[in-house]
Amino acid sequence: MNGSEEQDPANVRPHPFNVVLVGLPGAGKGTQAAQFARRHRVPKISTGDILRDAVARGTPLGREVAATLEAGGLVPDDVIVRVVQERLEHPDTARGFVLDGFPRTVPQAAALDALLGGRAVVVIFLEISPDVILQRLVTRRTCESCGQADTGAHTSEYCASCGGGFVKRADDHIDVIRRRLDAYVENTQPLVDWYSRRPAFRTVDANQPLADVARAFDAAVLECLGPGEIP
Ligand code: AMP
Repeated sequence: MNGSEEQDPANVRPHPFNVVLVGLPGAGKGTQAAQFARRHRVPKISTGDILRDAVARGTPLGREVAATLEAGGLVPDDVIVRVVQERLEHPDTARGFVLDGFPRTVPQAAALDALLGGRAVVVIFLEISPDVILQRLVTRRTCESCGQADTGAHTSEYCASCGGGFVKRADDHIDVIRRRLDAYVENTQPLVDWYSRRPAFRTVDANQPLADVARAFDAAVLECLGPGEIP
């Protein structure tokens, strides 16, 4: 192996808990990331949550991105990379993190590599049939405290994981959902192709029941890391 290969994040052994989740909007990234974070005591970093919170509080960032979120487009790479950089500087990421909704483009992924300074990530692609996505997002409600999603027949007003209340996301409406799916095909599909060449990339079938997805998710991370690294 020559020097340049050693520097390539594709060839670096991943840190135990630096995990990235990619997949279509509605594939279950938020729910799986929240559960993974609880199981392994690492922070879930959801760029969508950070941006929605900034919009709700009317911060300068929120004012900058509000129209883009409402339209279902992607906020510019430099803006979102700055947000993630600030979040990763927080000491709670020392043992690792699970990223939900970032990166979404190849330039964002390259920026993440640079931010991590050679510490590679385990990349899990939650693969789901696009046919089920529309129905899932149209009926989705999201827990305002932990991000857990509730789709289909709503049996409770409160989140089974944390007891928080459910809200309907402003961008979970049919026209906006279509634009978010278009943004995925245009930008995120190439990202999945780009990551798929790495050794620490795994695809998990997200059409299964939640608990099976969670088991497959843990198994995929473990397979990338090797035995004994997940407590
Ligand atoms: P999400 O909750 O991940 O579906 O994100 C909600 C919205 O936030 C997206 O439709 C985008 O407008 C914006 N957003 C979140 N993450 C990113 C990102 N990595 N790059 C660009 N825009 C993002």
